[in-house]
This record gives sequence, structure tokens and C-alpha cells, in this order.
Amino acid sequence: MAAYAFTNATLFDGRSDDAIPGMNVLVVDGRIEAVTENSVSGAGVTEYDVGGRTLMPGLIDAHAHVFAINLVAEHDRNIALTEMTARAVPRIRKMLDRGFTSVRDVAGGDVGIRNAIAQGYIPGPRLFVGGPALSQIGGHGDHRSTTDESLDIDLNSSAFYFTCRIVEGVDNLRSVVRNELRKGADHIKVLASGGVGSPNDAIEIPQYSEEELRTVVREAAVRGKYVCAHAYESAAIAHSIRAGVRTIEHANLINRETAAMVAAANAYVVPTLVAYEVTAQHGERLGLSRYVMQKLNMVNDAGIVMLGLCEDAGVKLGFGTDLMGDMEFAQLQELTIRARVQRPVDVLKSATSINAEIVQRPDLGVIAPGATADILVVDGDPLKDISVLTEPEKNLRLIMKEGEIYKTDLSPRV
Ligand SMILES: [Zn+2]
Repeated sequence: MAAYAFTNATLFDGRSDDAIPGMNVLVVDGRIEAVTENSVSGAGVTEYDVGGRTLMPGLIDAHAHVFAINLVAEHDRNIALTEMTARAVPRIRKMLDRGFTSVRDVAGGDVGIRNAIAQGYIPGPRLFVGGPALSQIGGHGDHRSTTDESLDIDLNSSAFYFTCRIVEGVDNLRSVVRNELRKGADHIKVLASGGVGSPNDAIEIPQYSEEELRTVVREAAVRGKYVCAHAYESAAIAHSIRAGVRTIEHANLINRETAAMVAAANAYVVPTLVAYEVTAQHGERLGLSRYVMQKLNMVNDAGIVMLGLCEDAGVKLGFGTDLMGDMEFAQLQELTIRARVQRPVDVLKSATSINAEIVQRPDLGVIAPGATADILVVDGDPLKDISVLTEPEKNLRLIMKEGEIYKTDLSPRV
């Protein structure tokens, strides 16, 4: 038995509006056994007096790409999958260093990397994966040049092709989705509108027919899985929601009416604002094309407005980042960007309990009896000043994932 007691904690449980001082948390064999004002110490229990610091659930990022090793996707063209995987390893570790104990990968991340982390070969957050994102011809995942007619793309030929798959038509989609779910995907990602990083597609155009999207949703649903859709404009978002998509990724250009529709469908929006903000700052220098930079600026300005619209409409907001290549350093800045509009506690709920709902794991993102023991101990009060979380080397005093201490500079009481 591995048992830990965290005593004298100020508890943010992932769901409540307030943090409660003077709480004790008992962890036994990877699970939270008790959350109480009473003593949880005992023989065989390693006790950490956390000295009134904030104890909270590990963070969850619901929109990341562990294999996005370059900001400019073109640079992935000559990278073999073995090199791609090796270069992903430090990216993955750094996510856990920042306090993310779970990450949902929504294009590229596969069951292999998920399992390697779960088996302890690679230090990192628990992953939820969907394999390659699905794109129609001429869609956000179609990176062919305008003179390239060949659709004969080998997903395993390089990092460039690994993260997206061009597939369309109801029958073809059904086969591909069934195959990804056969391999053990946690969700399916579809590209339902144009995007920023792709060379030839306008952001506002909806992609896939409703019947195609419905097919994907149906195949996922019969296996208890769900579909996430990349979409910016209201037309593409509404189109996805009508087809039964459960999470809308990005949504920067959503209008009031469509936000109400998302809320009524009990679906989620997963904003990824930091990606546009830091990429707008560094993109030109790092070689993004002028067309891509134009699209980037357009969605960057709209993103912050989207937050207010969605909050007013009662949309459940997840928390994502979507950072490619070297931009991944900014993962925690999404917290402070969101807090420009939202209360810090609501941003934290997004990054804990709401994201846990999204990944269909209600045992994550909360500090409660029976929950999986993903725990952070933080200096300062993130409910008052969320920026304390953006300096993990300084303020993150303990990271526990599934009952194992990954990192701490606190000393157990002897
Ligand atoms: Zn993305």
C-alpha cells in the first residue's frame, strides 16, 4: 500500500467557487480516500504538511498536439516517425512539469504514445488520443500543393502526414472511424471548417457534409465515444452541432445565436486562445506565410470576444492550448488570457472538472473521495491571482499523478 496524507491544505476541489482552508487529503494506492477536516495521519502514511498552500486537482489540457514538433507543418515533411516520437518526448515531459496531469491530443497523438506514457516509459500526462484528424479534400488537413493531384498519402511516411488523414464520403469515413476505434481511440477529431495553418482553405468555409459528420458521430457513439470538431465560424459550428458533435474546438468567430445553440445541445467549446496570441507574436520570424499570418490575426482578435459570448450563453467552456513547435512554452499563459474575461475560478474549473467531463473521466479534475489522485500543491492563491500557476518552477511545490509523486521540493514529516 502506498499512502500519502496532505495536511493543512487550502483546498480548491475543481468544482467549488471557493477554496477551503484547513483541509486534509488522504491518498491510498492512486485514489483519493478522504477529504476532511479530521486527522488522516496514521502508521504507514507518508505525511506532507503543506502549510496552508493551495491543493488542487492536476490541470487538464483538452486541446494539444504532442507530435506537433514544428510550428510550420511543412518542416515535418522529412521527419521520420521515430525522430518525431523522440522529439515529442521532452514536449510531453514539460507538460507534466507545468502541472498538466492529463492532456487530450486532438490530431496525431495515437494509442502507442498514450500507452507508452501509461506504462511509465515516458514521463508525461495521461493522454487521451484520437489518432489522425479527419479532413475532406481541400480541407484544413489537406496540405497538398495546388499542383499535386495524388491522394496516395502514406500516413506512416513522415511526421507531416501522420497527424491528418484525407478521407471523405460516408462509406470511407465509416471504415476509417471504425478502424481508429478498433485501435483504441478515445475520441474522433474532424476538421469541420477551414483553419489557420493550412495553405489553401479559407477559415469560414464549413467542411464535410452533414451526412458525413453524422456518420462519424454515429460510429463513435455506438462505442461510447464522441466527436470533436475543429470549427471557427458559426455556420461550421452550427453544422457540427446539428450532426451531433460534442466538442467544438477554437470557435473564435462564433456569434450569439450559435453560442445559444451550442449551450442548448449541452456541447462544449474548447477555446485555444494562447496559440493565436503567441504565434502572432513569433510566427513571421519563424517562417509562417503571409496568408497564414492574415488568418491568424483575424481569429486572434475575435477570440477574446468569443469568451464573453459563450459565457453569456451558458456554454460549457473547456480549456485548450493548441501550441505547435517551440510555442509550447506558453501553455500556461492560456490561464491568464482567459482570466482577462473570466473569473479565475471559472478558468480553473474549465482546466480541471469541465475538461474531465470532456474526456469522459469524472474521476479526474476533482479532489473528492474516489477520485484519481492527480494533485498539485501551489504557492499562492490561484483563485485570486491565476498567474501564480504560470511560474511552475517557482510556485508548483508538488505534482502527483495517479498517486505517485512526480516532483516535489516539500519534505515529508518524519
Ligand atoms: Zn489543434
